[in-house]
Amino acid sequence: MKMDVNKQMILKKIPTKASEEFRNFPMVPRVVYGKGSFDTLGDILMPKRKHSEAPMIYLVDDVFENTELINRIPSIFCDQIVLISAEEEPKTGQVDALVKMIQEKFTELPSGIIGIGGGTLLDMAKAVAIMLTNKGSASEYQGWDLVNKQSIYHVGIPTISGTGAEVSRTTVLMGPEKKLGINSDYTTFDQVLLDPDLTKGVPKEQWFYTGMDCYIHCIESLNGTFLNAFSQSYGEKSLELCKEVFLEDILASESREKLMMASWHGGMSIAYSQVGVAHAMSYGLGYVLGVKHGIGNCLVFQYLEEFYPEGVALFNKMLKKHNIELPKGICANLSNTEMDTMITVALGMAPLWENALGEQWKSIITPKKLKTIYQKI
Ligand code: NAD
Ligand code: ZN
Repeated sequence: MKMDVNKQMILKKIPTKASEEFRNFPMVPRVVYGKGSFDTLGDILMPKRKHSEAPMIYLVDDVFENTELINRIPSIFCDQIVLISAEEEPKTGQVDALVKMIQEKFTELPSGIIGIGGGTLLDMAKAVAIMLTNKGSASEYQGWDLVNKQSIYHVGIPTISGTGAEVSRTTVLMGPEKKLGINSDYTTFDQVLLDPDLTKGVPKEQWFYTGMDCYIHCIESLNGTFLNAFSQSYGEKSLELCKEVFLEDILASESREKLMMASWHGGMSIAYSQVGVAHAMSYGLGYVLGVKHGIGNCLVFQYLEEFYPEGVALFNKMLKKHNIELPKGICANLSNTEMDTMITVALGMAPLWENALGEQWKSIITPKKLKTIYQKI
């Protein structure tokens, strides 16, 4: 599967414009790191406050309701804390409703949107920040570079590590027609605050699933045909950190710090490449059955030894070390129509397949083959 980088360059399509080959990506311009750094949030936000009528809106995972973290949020003037459940992944309708609520309640546009939580809350914050300045529904912007106005200042504060949503240029949303990100230069956070202590209470299973999202980003990026030195440098560092976290016996506090940085590097690695087979198939599971991103990736990845032999072998070791039992029979009661939809959604992710298998991917992966894998799940 692995090819050398030069060979890949020859195999890749010749772009029509230089700007298509050399994408000019935004990065997070400011980041604070360190245990306890959450307490600097008030100072960070102060210069961004437009005036007392323009609030900071904190979108916070409701798992923190009645916890000490809420009291540490620097909420002043007419700021508002909105508690949001991460039970389901973010939907375009939910983003639209939040935007409407904010517009109705305040006379001024907010000074900023701050997302505090996992990938679900981070994506919600990115989407709300975009939709406060862009007309219509969030579903109209699912795709690539459809956003044309600068978003509101937005800050991401992860409380669980793995997705890379804190660095990425996308916000993944379930829309009426598709599960697809709003990929744009305005999506990326203006500020990220990485405080490894915030991930202390994460339940073990969830820690594993979201952490494996990061591990799978590395495997898919490093074994993809789009690989280049930029992606490789971040992917290798992230993989090294994942191995320490999931295969070695290190202190819990060290593990939290390392996984937070693995997530960051994993996210950076896919910025200039793509994910692969597990993500394409996990999108199908998510769309039809509502299976969440992290666990969905794990459910698929365990059966991908044909594509990622070494990656799957290590994954099995990690499962064993942490006594994780993946659920079974997830696709057992699917109707034919549901199975077909799942396959169509997965096959619709062309860039992911092209990254995983090369330009001729259609001759390698067929609906029948996908069905065989889904049936095992
Ligand atoms: P999540 O945000 O869905 O949260 C998972 C669970 O962990 C929830 O029950 C949440 O309440 C809980 N949780 C979070 N922090 C906690 C803490 N400190 N203590 C206790 N519980 C805590 O999980 P996730 O895996 O980080 O995010 C998944 C989402 O991220 C999906 O919607 C996926 O589409 C998205 N995603 C986005 C990108 C991107 O680049 N934008 C990349 C990958 C995934
Ligand atoms: Zn992912």
